[in-house]
Amino acid sequence: MLRRFFSYYRPYRGLFILDFTCAVFVALLELGFPLAVNMVVDQLLPSKDWNMIVWACIGLLALYGMNAGMNYVVTYWGHMLGINIETDMRKKLYDHIQKLSFRFFDNTKTGHLLSRLTNDLMEIGEVAHHGPEDLFIAVMTLIGAFLLMFHINEEMALLTFLVIPLLIFFVVHFNRKMTKAFHRLYGDMADFNARVEDNVGGMRVVQAFANEQFENKRFAENNQRFRITKLLSYKIMAQNISVSYVLMRLVNLFVLICGSWFVIQGELTYGEFIAFLLLTNVFFRPLEKINAIIESYPKGIAGFKRYIEIMDTAPDIADAPDAIQVESLKGDISYKNVSFSYDQESSVLQNIDLNIRAGETIAFVGPSGAGKTTLCSLLPRFYEIDGGSISIDGMDIREITLASLRSQIGIVQQDVFLFSGTIRENIVYGKLNASEEEIWEAARLAKLEEFIRSQPAGLETIIGERGVKLSGGQKQRLAIARMFLKNPPILILDEATSALDTETEAAIQQSLQELSKGRTTLVIAHRLATIKNADRIIVVTEQGITEQGSHDQLLAREGIYSRLYQAQFGTYLDQSNSV
Ligand code: ADP
Ligand code: MG
Repeated sequence: MLRRFFSYYRPYRGLFILDFTCAVFVALLELGFPLAVNMVVDQLLPSKDWNMIVWACIGLLALYGMNAGMNYVVTYWGHMLGINIETDMRKKLYDHIQKLSFRFFDNTKTGHLLSRLTNDLMEIGEVAHHGPEDLFIAVMTLIGAFLLMFHINEEMALLTFLVIPLLIFFVVHFNRKMTKAFHRLYGDMADFNARVEDNVGGMRVVQAFANEQFENKRFAENNQRFRITKLLSYKIMAQNISVSYVLMRLVNLFVLICGSWFVIQGELTYGEFIAFLLLTNVFFRPLEKINAIIESYPKGIAGFKRYIEIMDTAPDIADAPDAIQVESLKGDISYKNVSFSYDQESSVLQNIDLNIRAGETIAFVGPSGAGKTTLCSLLPRFYEIDGGSISIDGMDIREITLASLRSQIGIVQQDVFLFSGTIRENIVYGKLNASEEEIWEAARLAKLEEFIRSQPAGLETIIGERGVKLSGGQKQRLAIARMFLKNPPILILDEATSALDTETEAAIQQSLQELSKGRTTLVIAHRLATIKNADRIIVVTEQGITEQGSHDQLLAREGIYSRLYQAQFGTYLDQSNSV
């Protein structure tokens, strides 16, 4: 898995080498300064050579400048490396998600996918933002500082290392506490966001039930909890700052006392003494860094595992290697002995045989849950059939590329999904490169032109999230306009007007009829009055296709259709007359 992680570094090899080299230099300089001071004090000071001292300081100044520059490179370019990797991963994940089938989305929570794309990648990013280099450098600095101290004076070094473990223990302990506190903080924040999202999304329900007080109370509880957790994390931070201040001074004092003793004994020069003190202080930063990396590592690994899990989910519906691209199909459809089930337990469709000629309008009727929607969703290969075959113009749909197959099929459903944005954006979704005239033509055919013209912003009118600012009829017309633009030879109308009132339904029916002209049309209808004129009506029940024929033939048969029709006839008398 580590190898897989590092494979994301590959495109940025140059950046990595630059970052790494600079980081090594920064670490070396960090260790070099105490030695330089040592030299100035012990060798230049006794000779009282003022010129040399000035030159040495100028040299040091140059080194400081270099260090600053390299620190900039490490911080900025190093993070750029991490950010690039994170961006690449996010793009790859998004590309992959787009390829996954309906079945995957049926079984996946949107929120989880969202957190894959944001949180998990951020955790990975945390490690990728030069985690490996930092770890290397920090360890190197520690070892280097230890060796130098040992080199200066063995006994002093050993004594100092009696107290340093105390420091290590403290840093590890507090870092752990901090991480826990932040973890809780993130958890609370996630709850918080979920609450707000739920509340704002369902504001219509909240206000309709006049439950604002209740929601306020729930929110206040969350808010309080957030406050307490946040306070706690600052408390830990404050403790950390105070205690680490004292500890650092204590270690310094310890070195000061021991060092002075050794100097008095003549075992340590002044310069060595100062260098030793400086080196002691080199210890703090890498220690904290190592700790931070150790803490972020498991989270990064966990995030990467979840990331890989999705990346390794093979799209269960994909182009065959030799799939052909179709340009324009005629629209002859044939289902042969088709079987399908969503899961092992229950089969939805069994041995379905169905032939539809190009240009024909076929209506599917039957009880809810019989499998009408399922039957139609097999045609664009939203789900893969378990047995039999489906072909269009004599070609098995599995031999056609998914993209070109789906470009030939248009679907208008009961609950239109509109993207938040403008009317224009939603119409052109049918044909992304549509010209201005084409858009208006589609709007005209869908009888949406008048409405658009009546809006001050015209095509740029914002329709709100999922189109909340439009009426049901307007939404449906937008979906129809989109379909006119797409102009597919095969059309599926899945209860497209079921959610509308009868008057709007009748009006939209005209647009739909206009839309279905010259196309093979599969209509699923709940209200039978709307499909009387279909070329053929197919009755689908749990047993499969049980009756088919024209409206009059089926009425004469006095079977299921005739019973369904009688049952609705009274209710929809006025409307069935008008159609
Ligand atoms: P109809 O359109 O005739 O009302 P559907 O084709 O929507 O019926 O559903 C047929 C059966 O398949 C129902 O029992 C339904 O519960 C089940 N079903 C529909 N969609 C799914 C799905 N995405 N996952 C699992 N089962 C489903
Ligand atoms: Mg349905």
